[in-house]
Amino acid sequence: MSRLAIVTGGTRGIGAAISIDLKQKGYEVIANYVGNEEAATKFSKENNINVYKSDVSSHESSKEFIKKISEEYKNPDILVNNAGITRDSMLHKMDLESWEKVLETNLTSCFNMCSAVIPEMRNSGYGRIINISSINALVGQLGQTNYAAAKAGIIGFSKSLARENARKGITVNVVAPGYIKTEMTDAVPEKVMEKIVSSIPVGRIGFTKEIARVVSFLADEDSGFITGETISVNGGHNMY
Ligand code: NDP
Repeated sequence: MSRLAIVTGGTRGIGAAISIDLKQKGYEVIANYVGNEEAATKFSKENNINVYKSDVSSHESSKEFIKKISEEYKNPDILVNNAGITRDSMLHKMDLESWEKVLETNLTSCFNMCSAVIPEMRNSGYGRIINISSINALVGQLGQTNYAAAKAGIIGFSKSLARENARKGITVNVVAPGYIKTEMTDAVPEKVMEKIVSSIPVGRIGFTKEIARVVSFLADEDSGFITGETISVNGGHNMY
């Protein structure tokens, strides 16, 4: 069997583009989702990619997800932690639920999924883990203390996991997208988006396939000397 890749939140937006790109590169792909059955079914039919419903913010569900996949296919060789949500509000108006939900879905999910796949990756001596962060982890954003904290947490998490597993043939890297055209950014008011675009050096927002391209590069067997790295894909919006 070819290498197996799991893409969390892989049926819509950036995740869908990643799933499609990995499939085109010859991997067996399983795209995960949490609740939008209609989008998942349509995605699966159109792209001939298997989908799996599981809430990655739940530790138990994530363990069960990987157990089922390992029984049916094999332990994944590639894990892309892409699932993410926003619950924006200024901190002085943010309730605990919005904080916890964003941290659980965006950051604890990485712990849940990585801890489920890593023992077998270590046994097999091979693995590629790619975690999706955000430009807002690096520069901060109004109304996103929860989101920026979770996405910045992913970077520290990934560097540590990369060190722990570097001798086991496992790489752990981060892709930090800038503003990319998806339903998430479609929800941003037009006037706000115009202002954002005017501050992006390339003069436009990005496309999902531009993130997928970098993820596939990091997923490649020949990318084994890159680990613990964060690659920004943001049209020059933040250069550091
Ligand atoms: P979308 O909202 O378009 O898609 C999110 C996907 O994640 C969906 O497939 C959704 O499933 C899934 N998902 C959400 N919660 C869970 C959960 N608890 N368990 C499993 N799956 C879940 O998001 P984008 O494509 O815009 O974003 C993808 C990633 O990229 C996110 O991590 C986001 O933070 C990050 N990002 C996005 C940017 C952008 O400009 N769009 C910029 C920077 C980073 P379902 O379909 O069932 O709802």
